[in-house]
This record gives sequence, structure tokens and C-alpha cells, in this order.
Amino acid sequence: MPHIHGNIISKDLFDRVQEVLDSKHQEGKRQQQLSKHIYIFRGLITCGCCGHKVFSDYCTKRSKYMYLRCYHCKNPSVNENMILQQLEEEVFSKIILSNQEIKHLQDELDKHFEEKRIRNTELKEAILKIVVILGNLSLFMQQSDNKAKNILLSLLLSNCTLKDKKLTYTLNKPFNYLLTTPNHKEWKDIIIKHLKEFKKMVLMIEKM
Ligand SMILES: [Zn+2]
Repeated sequence: MPHIHGNIISKDLFDRVQEVLDSKHQEGKRQQQLSKHIYIFRGLITCGCCGHKVFSDYCTKRSKYMYLRCYHCKNPSVNENMILQQLEEEVFSKIILSNQEIKHLQDELDKHFEEKRIRNTELKEAILKIVVILGNLSLFMQQSDNKAKNILLSLLLSNCTLKDKKLTYTLNKPFNYLLTTPNHKEWKDIIIKHLKEFKKMVLMIEKM
């Protein structure tokens, strides 16, 4: 029987996720068109001055740039790219895993799942996908469509408030642990310890 051994499945999955990531780039433009109406920060940010929701809007009709603004107070609006740049410096660029490291981590996780007889394919696939994305966060944020970016940001961040053109936020569990643990060898234990959180995220990760 083919594809029954854990490693074979994981390699197969791994290749498929890599394909997903690659295809993001190729059909980036088309997807960008499709998800144009979905804003990257949709539903995520609260005004740090008055507590109302912050919305995305073009500065003028001809403007290429999306601005984040509060319609209820004088909290200055800010180019969305500036906030993405802030997140790039503070979060996305913090960790890069090579394909080899990702593969190694995946094998370690497979071993664990095999030992514990965990056969939840959706969960395994979700974890693999999130590991690939976390290992290539900057790239993913450059190449994905707005919908995927919005989902990823809502998985990563909470309590986002905007004030004086800066974003304050909390990194969600378990990503706070993963992204502050540069040694990927410790990621396996962190992921295993937080399987419950990953289970809750499965549906959202599938939509990315
Ligand atoms: Zn406000």
C-alpha cells in the first residue's frame, strides 16, 4: 500500500505546501484582483485614541495607497505599507527557516504523531502549512493575496491598536513562543504543547 508510512506522507504534504507557496507568486496578480475588496487589516485594528474600529481606505480616488484611518477622531491616518513595514521589522523578518529545517521539523513531528497514534490528517496538514508559512513569513506576506494575509495576521496578532502611526499588538499563543524561539529545534516541543490551539485554527488555515 503506497503512502502509508509517515515520512512518505509528510514528504508528499511538504511538496504540496511548497507548491501552494510557489503558486501564490505565479497567480499573485489574479488573486490580488479577486481579493481586492478584502483589506489586509480588515477587522483587526482599533483606534488607540477613541476605541472605534480603524478602516482601510484609499487616500483619494486616484491614490494607489491604502490608508488606515479612524473616522471618529483626529488620530492621524497612516499608509498601510508603513504598518506592514513595521510588522516586517518586528515580526516577519525575525525568523527564517530553510526548507531543510522545515523538513526536519516535519519529520520530528511525524515521529511524535506516529508514537502517539495521532491520525488527524487535517491537523497535521494545518501544522505543516503553518510551519512552512512561519518559516517564510516575509515571503508569504509579499506574495499572498489580501485574504490570506488577513487570515494570517488575525492568527498572529490580537489587541491591535493604532496610534500616532504606530501599531501596538499582542502576538498570539503559540506564535509568541515560536517567533521568539530562533532555535527551530525547540519548535517541535512548542507545537506539541499547543496542539489544542492548532486544532482551533485548522479551518482558518485551510482558507489561506
Ligand atoms: Zn479614533
